[in-house]
Amino acid sequence: MPGDTPRLGEFELIAELFAPLAAPGGFGLTDDAAIITPPAGNDIVMTKDMMVSGVHFLPDDPPDLVARKLLRVNLSDLAAMGAAPHGYALGLSLPPEIGDGWLRAFAAGLAADQREFGIALLGGDTTSTPGPLTLSLTALGFVRQGRLLRRSGASPGDVVFVTGTVGDAALGLMALRGAVADPDGFLADRYRLPRPRLAAGAALVGVASAGLDVSDGLVADLGHLCSASGVGAVIEAALVPLSPQARRAIDHRPDLIAVALAGGDDYELVFSIPPDAVGALDRRLSGVGVAATRIGRIVAGKRIRVFDAAGADITPETPGFRHR
Ligand code: ADP
Ligand code: MG
Repeated sequence: MPGDTPRLGEFELIAELFAPLAAPGGFGLTDDAAIITPPAGNDIVMTKDMMVSGVHFLPDDPPDLVARKLLRVNLSDLAAMGAAPHGYALGLSLPPEIGDGWLRAFAAGLAADQREFGIALLGGDTTSTPGPLTLSLTALGFVRQGRLLRRSGASPGDVVFVTGTVGDAALGLMALRGAVADPDGFLADRYRLPRPRLAAGAALVGVASAGLDVSDGLVADLGHLCSASGVGAVIEAALVPLSPQARRAIDHRPDLIAVALAGGDDYELVFSIPPDAVGALDRRLSGVGVAATRIGRIVAGKRIRVFDAAGADITPETPGFRHR
């Protein structure tokens, strides 16, 4: 942040900004490591995501939003496994231009989302770097043993669903770059602040045959589910749920449907379900207040194909984002 004050020493930083965020098992960040005690009959689920300034966020993005996105992309992975959040470890590699103001706002963002999602800090590590600012978060959650949602398990004939709406985040990134109109800021907000589908993920356990979260793009991520399951899939583009804001952008520029299908960062859940379990799915999801839409089906083979309403094959050539 311009005019930011020089950084607290490493120990003051931990004591002042991060110790108030500590979980009971983190011992106030005063010890060498943390403990985790899963409830009886539960497994620990673990995931890590890193974010690098200039690659995954912009250097002048608000620090509280950077913190919340870092936490939420990891929470989305827990959601995709059907796990309940427990705690997290934080890795910070700080370049000289990151001062106390930036770090205070970053910690405030973490505090806000800790309250919202019922997760707390277990520990971490802090280093200096010439740059760029590099953030790493390892999130831990619990699932009842054997009751988790995997990418494998889809069979030909299963129905494919996705929660919420698709394409908002990719269109939001275009909006932030001035390439798409976003009068109410909805699309940009969907890019900046994922809504991890924790309640939906937990509700899918035991009903869905396979599932994962949409981070690379709908087509690419359904491709990951299919390769883990050894199947293919057909998507009907006309069924893909769009927000009114995305619909308006695509009505103006019909080619943007490809962005909605291939663009990442929505953090919705895409999942398959045996046809005879669709009634149970409806009951479970309405119990947690989440909408999901049927978008296609699992087929034999390996390919993911997308068809438009007229039956033309409109499968995108680059199915999604690859992080190298
Ligand atoms: P050590 O040198 O033994 O690894 P550190 O000085 O790195 O100890 O860390 C001291 C304590 O502060 C530990 O409990 C560690 O988990 C915690 N800690 C350090 N950096 C962070 C951070 N960025 N976020 C959360 N906890 C941290
Ligand atoms: Mg350390």
